Amino acid sequence: MKSSPHRHTPAIVSLTAIQNNVKKMRQHIGAKPALYAVVKANAYGHGAIPVAQSVHELVDGFCVSNLDEAIELRNHLITKPILVLSGIVPENADIATSLNITLTAPSLAWLKLIVAQKTNYQGLKIHIAVDSGMGRIGVRDAAEANAMIDLADQSGILFDGIFTHFATADEVDTTKYIQQKEKFASIVAGLNRRPQFVHSTNSAAGLWHKEQVQDIERLGVSMYGLNPSGRALDLPFDLEPAFELKSELTHVKTIQAGDTVGYGATYTASEDTVVGTVSIGYADGWTREMQGFHVIVDGQYCEIIGRVSMDQMCIKLEKEYPIGTPVTLIGREGQLEITAQEIAEWRHTINYEILCLLSDRIYREYK
Ligand SMILES: *Cc1c(COP(=O)(O)O)cnc(C)c1O
Repeated sequence: MKSSPHRHTPAIVSLTAIQNNVKKMRQHIGAKPALYAVVKANAYGHGAIPVAQSVHELVDGFCVSNLDEAIELRNHLITKPILVLSGIVPENADIATSLNITLTAPSLAWLKLIVAQKTNYQGLKIHIAVDSGMGRIGVRDAAEANAMIDLADQSGILFDGIFTHFATADEVDTTKYIQQKEKFASIVAGLNRRPQFVHSTNSAAGLWHKEQVQDIERLGVSMYGLNPSGRALDLPFDLEPAFELKSELTHVKTIQAGDTVGYGATYTASEDTVVGTVSIGYADGWTREMQGFHVIVDGQYCEIIGRVSMDQMCIKLEKEYPIGTPVTLIGREGQLEITAQEIAEWRHTINYEILCLLSDRIYREYK
Protein backbone atom coordinates (compact mmCIF):
# COMPACT_ATOMS: atom_id res chain seq x y z
CA MET A 1 0.00 0.00 0.00
CA LYS A 2 1.17 3.53 -0.73
CA SER A 3 2.73 5.27 2.24
CA SER A 4 0.88 8.55 2.77
CA PRO A 5 3.11 11.22 4.30
CA HIS A 6 0.73 14.03 3.28
CA ARG A 7 -2.20 12.66 5.21
CA HIS A 8 -1.39 13.81 8.76
CA THR A 9 -1.86 10.36 10.25
CA PRO A 10 1.74 9.54 11.14
CA ALA A 11 3.19 6.91 13.40
CA ILE A 12 5.96 8.44 15.45
CA VAL A 13 8.63 5.88 16.29
CA SER A 14 11.19 6.62 18.99
CA LEU A 15 14.46 5.01 17.99
CA THR A 16 15.87 6.24 21.30
CA ALA A 17 13.27 4.20 23.18
CA ILE A 18 14.21 1.12 21.14
CA GLN A 19 17.91 1.68 21.85
CA ASN A 20 17.17 2.12 25.55
CA ASN A 21 15.15 -1.09 25.65
CA VAL A 22 17.97 -3.01 23.96
CA LYS A 23 20.49 -1.59 26.46
CA LYS A 24 18.27 -2.58 29.38
CA MET A 25 17.95 -6.12 28.05
CA ARG A 26 21.72 -6.29 27.59
CA GLN A 27 22.15 -5.28 31.23
CA HIS A 28 19.57 -7.84 32.33
CA ILE A 29 21.10 -10.85 30.54
CA GLY A 30 24.75 -9.89 31.03
CA ALA A 31 27.57 -9.31 28.56
CA LYS A 32 28.17 -12.83 27.35
CA PRO A 33 25.21 -13.95 25.20
CA ALA A 34 24.92 -12.53 21.72
CA LEU A 35 21.90 -10.27 21.34
CA TYR A 36 19.96 -10.59 18.07
CA ALA A 37 17.33 -7.97 17.30
CA VAL A 38 14.20 -9.53 15.82
CA VAL A 39 13.13 -7.13 13.06
CA LYS A 40 10.72 -9.40 11.19
CA ALA A 41 7.41 -8.03 9.89
CA ASN A 42 8.92 -4.58 9.30
CA ALA A 43 10.25 -4.58 12.87
CA TYR A 44 6.79 -5.28 14.29
CA GLY A 45 5.48 -2.31 12.31
CA HIS A 46 8.21 0.10 13.47
CA GLY A 47 10.20 0.04 10.19
CA ALA A 48 12.87 -2.64 9.69
CA ILE A 49 15.57 -0.47 8.13
CA PRO A 50 15.54 2.51 10.54
CA VAL A 51 15.26 0.17 13.51
CA ALA A 52 18.05 -2.14 12.32
CA GLN A 53 20.33 0.81 11.56
CA SER A 54 19.62 2.43 14.93
CA VAL A 55 20.56 -0.70 16.91
CA HIS A 56 23.31 -1.99 14.62
CA GLU A 57 26.08 -1.11 17.08
CA LEU A 58 24.16 -2.40 20.12
CA VAL A 59 23.40 -5.92 18.87
CA ASP A 60 25.33 -8.86 17.46
CA GLY A 61 22.89 -9.88 14.75
CA PHE A 62 19.34 -9.82 13.43
CA CYS A 63 16.46 -12.24 12.99
CA VAL A 64 13.89 -11.94 10.20
CA SER A 65 11.00 -14.10 9.07
CA ASN A 66 11.89 -14.72 5.42
CA LEU A 67 14.54 -14.28 2.77
CA ASP A 68 13.13 -11.04 1.38
CA GLU A 69 13.37 -9.35 4.76
CA ALA A 70 16.98 -10.52 5.01
CA ILE A 71 17.82 -9.24 1.51
CA GLU A 72 16.29 -5.86 2.38
CA LEU A 73 18.62 -5.57 5.39
CA ARG A 74 21.68 -6.51 3.34
CA ASN A 75 20.66 -3.96 0.68
CA HIS A 76 20.71 -1.30 3.41
CA LEU A 77 24.22 -2.01 4.62
CA ILE A 78 23.33 -4.21 7.56
CA THR A 79 26.52 -6.27 7.78
CA LYS A 80 25.97 -8.26 11.00
CA PRO A 81 24.75 -11.88 10.95
CA ILE A 82 21.14 -12.33 9.84
CA LEU A 83 19.14 -15.44 10.73
CA VAL A 84 15.97 -16.27 8.79
CA LEU A 85 13.62 -17.88 11.33
CA SER A 86 11.61 -20.15 9.03
CA GLY A 87 12.30 -22.56 6.19
CA ILE A 88 12.86 -20.85 2.85
CA VAL A 89 11.98 -22.11 -0.63
CA PRO A 90 14.91 -24.50 -1.28
CA GLU A 91 15.56 -23.11 -4.78
CA ASN A 92 16.60 -19.81 -3.19
CA ALA A 93 19.43 -21.15 -1.05
CA ASP A 94 22.08 -19.66 -3.35
CA ILE A 95 20.82 -16.17 -2.58
CA ALA A 96 21.37 -16.84 1.10
CA THR A 97 24.87 -18.14 0.44
CA SER A 98 25.89 -15.15 -1.65
CA LEU A 99 24.54 -12.60 0.87
CA ASN A 100 25.84 -14.45 3.93
CA ILE A 101 22.34 -14.98 5.29
CA THR A 102 21.98 -17.80 7.82
CA LEU A 103 19.07 -20.16 7.24
CA THR A 104 16.88 -22.08 9.61
CA ALA A 105 16.77 -25.77 8.71
CA PRO A 106 13.35 -26.99 9.82
CA SER A 107 13.79 -30.69 8.99
CA LEU A 108 15.92 -33.34 7.31
CA ALA A 109 13.40 -33.40 4.45
CA TRP A 110 14.01 -29.68 3.82
CA LEU A 111 17.78 -30.07 3.94
CA LYS A 112 17.56 -32.93 1.42
CA LEU A 113 15.71 -30.61 -0.96
CA ILE A 114 18.47 -28.03 -0.56
CA VAL A 115 21.18 -30.57 -1.23
CA ALA A 116 19.25 -31.95 -4.21
CA GLN A 117 19.76 -28.58 -5.98
CA LYS A 118 23.50 -28.96 -6.13
CA THR A 119 26.25 -30.81 -4.31
CA ASN A 120 28.39 -28.04 -2.92
CA TYR A 121 27.11 -25.16 -0.80
CA GLN A 122 30.40 -23.83 0.50
CA GLY A 123 29.68 -20.90 2.80
CA LEU A 124 26.01 -21.55 3.54
CA LYS A 125 25.20 -21.50 7.27
CA ILE A 126 22.28 -23.24 8.93
CA HIS A 127 20.70 -23.31 12.37
CA ILE A 128 18.73 -26.49 12.97
CA ALA A 129 15.28 -25.82 14.44
CA VAL A 130 14.12 -28.06 17.28
CA ASP A 131 10.43 -28.60 17.96
CA SER A 132 10.49 -28.90 21.74
CA GLY A 133 6.74 -28.37 22.03
CA MET A 134 5.76 -25.38 19.90
CA GLY A 135 4.60 -27.78 17.20
CA ARG A 136 5.47 -25.46 14.32
CA ILE A 137 8.83 -26.35 12.73
CA GLY A 138 11.87 -28.32 13.76
CA VAL A 139 13.22 -31.77 14.51
CA ARG A 140 11.75 -33.73 17.37
CA ASP A 141 14.72 -35.97 18.19
CA ALA A 142 18.52 -35.93 18.14
CA ALA A 143 18.73 -38.66 15.48
CA GLU A 144 17.17 -36.40 12.85
CA ALA A 145 19.43 -33.51 13.88
CA ASN A 146 22.50 -35.76 13.60
CA ALA A 147 21.45 -36.93 10.14
CA MET A 148 21.18 -33.25 9.17
CA ILE A 149 24.63 -32.50 10.54
CA ASP A 150 26.08 -35.36 8.46
CA LEU A 151 24.30 -34.19 5.33
CA ALA A 152 25.45 -30.61 5.91
CA ASP A 153 29.03 -31.79 6.37
CA GLN A 154 28.91 -33.68 3.07
CA SER A 155 27.60 -30.63 1.20
CA GLY A 156 29.89 -27.91 2.51
CA ILE A 157 27.09 -26.42 4.62
CA LEU A 158 28.21 -25.04 7.97
CA PHE A 159 26.25 -26.34 10.98
CA ASP A 160 26.39 -23.02 12.80
CA GLY A 161 23.58 -23.30 15.35
CA ILE A 162 20.62 -25.10 16.85
CA PHE A 163 17.61 -23.45 18.46
CA THR A 164 14.13 -23.89 19.76
CA HIS A 165 11.19 -21.57 20.42
CA PHE A 166 9.03 -21.56 23.56
CA ALA A 167 5.26 -21.63 23.35
CA THR A 168 4.58 -20.47 26.91
CA ALA A 169 7.55 -18.51 28.29
CA ASP A 170 5.13 -15.60 28.86
CA GLU A 171 2.81 -17.44 31.25
CA VAL A 172 2.50 -17.68 35.02
CA ASP A 173 2.31 -21.49 34.89
CA THR A 174 5.79 -22.73 33.94
CA THR A 175 4.97 -26.44 33.51
CA LYS A 176 5.01 -26.46 29.72
CA TYR A 177 7.99 -24.09 29.59
CA ILE A 178 10.04 -26.46 31.77
CA GLN A 179 9.04 -29.47 29.65
CA GLN A 180 10.19 -27.66 26.51
CA LYS A 181 13.43 -26.52 28.06
CA GLU A 182 14.23 -30.10 29.15
CA LYS A 183 13.30 -31.55 25.79
CA PHE A 184 15.61 -29.07 24.03
CA ALA A 185 18.44 -29.81 26.49
CA SER A 186 18.12 -33.54 25.86
CA ILE A 187 18.23 -33.11 22.08
CA VAL A 188 21.28 -30.84 22.33
CA ALA A 189 22.94 -33.40 24.62
CA GLY A 190 22.33 -36.08 21.99
CA LEU A 191 24.11 -34.19 19.19
CA ASN A 192 27.26 -35.64 17.70
CA ARG A 193 28.77 -32.19 18.10
CA ARG A 194 27.81 -28.84 19.51
CA PRO A 195 27.59 -25.93 17.06
CA GLN A 196 28.80 -22.40 17.84
CA PHE A 197 25.30 -21.16 18.72
CA VAL A 198 22.76 -22.93 20.91
CA HIS A 199 19.78 -20.69 21.58
CA SER A 200 16.23 -20.77 22.81
CA THR A 201 15.07 -17.50 24.31
CA ASN A 202 12.66 -14.91 22.95
CA SER A 203 11.78 -11.73 24.88
CA ALA A 204 9.63 -13.53 27.42
CA ALA A 205 12.20 -16.20 28.24
CA GLY A 206 14.96 -13.58 28.36
CA LEU A 207 12.93 -11.41 30.74
CA TRP A 208 11.56 -14.03 33.12
CA HIS A 209 13.92 -17.01 32.69
CA LYS A 210 17.23 -15.31 32.02
CA GLU A 211 19.21 -18.31 33.33
CA GLN A 212 18.02 -20.05 30.14
CA VAL A 213 19.67 -17.49 27.82
CA GLN A 214 22.37 -19.53 26.07
CA ASP A 215 24.52 -18.25 23.20
CA ILE A 216 21.94 -15.91 21.62
CA GLU A 217 19.02 -13.92 23.02
CA ARG A 218 16.45 -13.33 20.25
CA LEU A 219 14.91 -10.05 21.27
CA GLY A 220 11.59 -9.12 19.68
CA VAL A 221 8.60 -7.41 21.22
CA SER A 222 10.33 -6.14 24.36
CA MET A 223 12.75 -4.17 22.21
CA TYR A 224 9.74 -2.18 21.04
CA GLY A 225 8.72 -1.51 24.64
CA LEU A 226 5.84 -3.95 24.98
CA ASN A 227 5.28 -6.61 27.62
CA PRO A 228 5.24 -10.02 25.85
CA SER A 229 2.81 -11.39 28.43
CA GLY A 230 0.29 -8.57 28.07
CA ARG A 231 -0.49 -8.07 31.76
CA ALA A 232 0.05 -11.65 32.98
CA LEU A 233 3.58 -11.08 34.29
CA ASP A 234 5.19 -7.89 35.61
CA LEU A 235 8.27 -6.67 33.79
CA PRO A 236 11.51 -6.99 35.80
CA PHE A 237 12.36 -3.45 34.63
CA ASP A 238 10.48 -0.70 32.81
CA LEU A 239 10.35 -0.73 29.03
CA GLU A 240 9.62 2.34 26.91
CA PRO A 241 6.91 1.93 24.25
CA ALA A 242 8.43 3.19 21.00
CA PHE A 243 5.29 3.65 18.91
CA GLU A 244 2.79 6.52 18.84
CA LEU A 245 -0.02 7.00 16.36
CA LYS A 246 -1.34 10.51 15.81
CA SER A 247 -3.85 12.20 13.56
CA GLU A 248 -5.88 15.37 13.17
CA LEU A 249 -9.51 16.27 12.73
CA THR A 250 -10.32 16.67 9.04
CA HIS A 251 -14.00 17.60 9.42
CA VAL A 252 -16.20 18.73 12.32
CA LYS A 253 -19.98 19.24 12.48
CA THR A 254 -22.96 19.05 14.79
CA ILE A 255 -25.65 16.48 13.98
CA GLN A 256 -29.18 16.36 15.38
CA ALA A 257 -31.15 13.71 17.28
CA GLY A 258 -32.06 10.89 14.89
CA ASP A 259 -29.11 11.50 12.52
CA THR A 260 -26.87 8.49 11.95
CA VAL A 261 -23.15 7.97 11.41
CA GLY A 262 -21.33 5.45 9.22
CA TYR A 263 -22.08 2.37 7.10
CA GLY A 264 -25.07 0.41 8.30
CA ALA A 265 -26.23 3.46 10.29
CA THR A 266 -25.20 1.70 13.48
CA TYR A 267 -24.92 4.94 15.46
CA THR A 268 -27.91 7.22 15.94
CA ALA A 269 -27.54 10.54 17.77
CA SER A 270 -29.96 10.91 20.67
CA GLU A 271 -29.37 14.66 20.93
CA ASP A 272 -27.30 17.37 19.27
CA THR A 273 -23.87 15.73 18.92
CA VAL A 274 -20.55 17.12 17.70
CA VAL A 275 -18.89 14.65 15.34
CA GLY A 276 -15.28 14.77 14.20
CA THR A 277 -13.82 12.84 11.28
CA VAL A 278 -10.32 11.31 11.35
CA SER A 279 -8.30 9.97 8.40
CA ILE A 280 -7.73 6.38 9.45
CA GLY A 281 -9.62 3.20 8.70
CA TYR A 282 -9.44 -0.53 8.35
CA ALA A 283 -7.10 -0.29 5.34
CA ASP A 284 -4.61 1.16 7.80
CA GLY A 285 -5.09 -1.83 10.10
CA TRP A 286 -7.37 0.27 12.32
CA THR A 287 -10.03 -2.40 12.15
CA ARG A 288 -13.81 -2.18 12.40
CA GLU A 289 -13.50 -3.65 15.88
CA MET A 290 -12.29 -0.20 17.00
CA GLN A 291 -15.90 1.07 16.99
CA GLY A 292 -16.78 1.90 20.60
CA PHE A 293 -13.14 2.36 21.65
CA HIS A 294 -11.70 5.86 22.07
CA VAL A 295 -9.03 8.34 21.03
CA ILE A 296 -7.73 11.41 22.87
CA VAL A 297 -8.63 14.95 21.78
CA ASP A 298 -7.83 18.04 23.86
CA GLY A 299 -7.05 16.00 26.97
CA GLN A 300 -10.24 13.93 26.87
CA TYR A 301 -11.18 10.46 25.72
CA CYS A 302 -13.58 10.61 22.75
CA GLU A 303 -15.60 7.58 21.63
CA ILE A 304 -15.24 6.14 18.14
CA ILE A 305 -18.81 6.15 16.82
CA GLY A 306 -20.33 4.35 13.85
CA ARG A 307 -18.51 1.74 11.83
CA VAL A 308 -14.89 2.40 11.00
CA SER A 309 -14.70 2.77 7.19
CA MET A 310 -11.80 1.82 4.95
CA ASP A 311 -10.09 5.22 5.19
CA GLN A 312 -11.96 7.34 7.73
CA MET A 313 -13.77 7.10 11.03
CA CYS A 314 -15.88 9.36 13.23
CA ILE A 315 -15.54 10.31 16.86
CA LYS A 316 -17.83 12.05 19.32
CA LEU A 317 -16.46 15.41 20.48
CA GLU A 318 -17.24 17.55 23.53
CA LYS A 319 -17.48 20.70 21.40
CA GLU A 320 -16.68 22.00 17.93
CA TYR A 321 -12.91 22.02 17.40
CA PRO A 322 -11.14 23.47 14.36
CA ILE A 323 -9.88 21.30 11.50
CA GLY A 324 -6.32 20.23 12.28
CA THR A 325 -6.91 19.67 16.01
CA PRO A 326 -4.57 16.85 17.13
CA VAL A 327 -5.98 13.37 17.76
CA THR A 328 -3.98 10.72 19.63
CA LEU A 329 -4.76 7.11 18.73
CA ILE A 330 -1.81 5.39 20.44
CA GLY A 331 0.44 7.19 22.90
CA ARG A 332 0.31 9.88 25.52
CA GLU A 333 -1.41 13.25 25.48
CA GLY A 334 -1.24 15.25 28.70
CA GLN A 335 -2.40 13.06 31.58
CA LEU A 336 -4.01 10.47 29.33
CA GLU A 337 -2.53 7.53 27.47
CA ILE A 338 -3.74 4.86 25.05
CA THR A 339 -1.48 1.79 24.86
CA ALA A 340 -1.25 -0.98 22.28
CA GLN A 341 -2.07 -3.30 25.18
CA GLU A 342 -5.42 -1.56 25.82
CA ILE A 343 -6.31 -1.80 22.14
CA ALA A 344 -5.29 -5.47 22.15
CA GLU A 345 -7.63 -6.15 25.08
CA TRP A 346 -10.46 -4.31 23.33
CA ARG A 347 -9.91 -6.48 20.24
CA HIS A 348 -9.34 -9.70 22.22
CA THR A 349 -5.84 -10.17 20.91
CA ILE A 350 -2.20 -9.47 21.80
CA ASN A 351 -0.24 -6.21 21.60
CA TYR A 352 2.04 -7.69 18.91
CA GLU A 353 -0.86 -7.99 16.49
CA ILE A 354 -2.04 -4.40 16.93
CA LEU A 355 1.26 -2.89 15.76
CA CYS A 356 2.01 -5.50 13.07
CA LEU A 357 -1.37 -4.92 11.42
CA LEU A 358 -0.87 -1.16 11.01
CA SER A 359 -0.31 -0.96 7.29
CA ASP A 360 2.34 0.77 5.19
CA ARG A 361 -0.12 3.55 4.40
CA ILE A 362 0.61 4.97 7.83
CA TYR A 363 3.71 7.07 7.32
CA ARG A 364 6.42 6.36 9.91
CA GLU A 365 8.30 9.36 11.32
CA TYR A 366 11.39 8.86 13.45
CA LYS A 367 12.68 10.70 16.47
C1 LIG B 1 9.26 -13.84 16.60
C2 LIG B 1 10.26 -14.75 17.18
C3 LIG B 1 11.07 -14.32 18.26
C4 LIG B 1 10.85 -13.01 18.98
O1 LIG B 1 9.76 -13.17 19.87
P1 LIG B 1 9.35 -12.00 20.88
O2 LIG B 1 8.29 -12.61 21.70
O3 LIG B 1 8.82 -10.88 20.05
O4 LIG B 1 10.57 -11.61 21.62
C5 LIG B 1 12.08 -15.16 18.67
N1 LIG B 1 12.27 -16.37 18.08
C6 LIG B 1 11.50 -16.82 17.08
C7 LIG B 1 11.75 -18.16 16.50
C8 LIG B 1 10.45 -16.03 16.61
O5 LIG B 1 9.67 -16.49 15.62
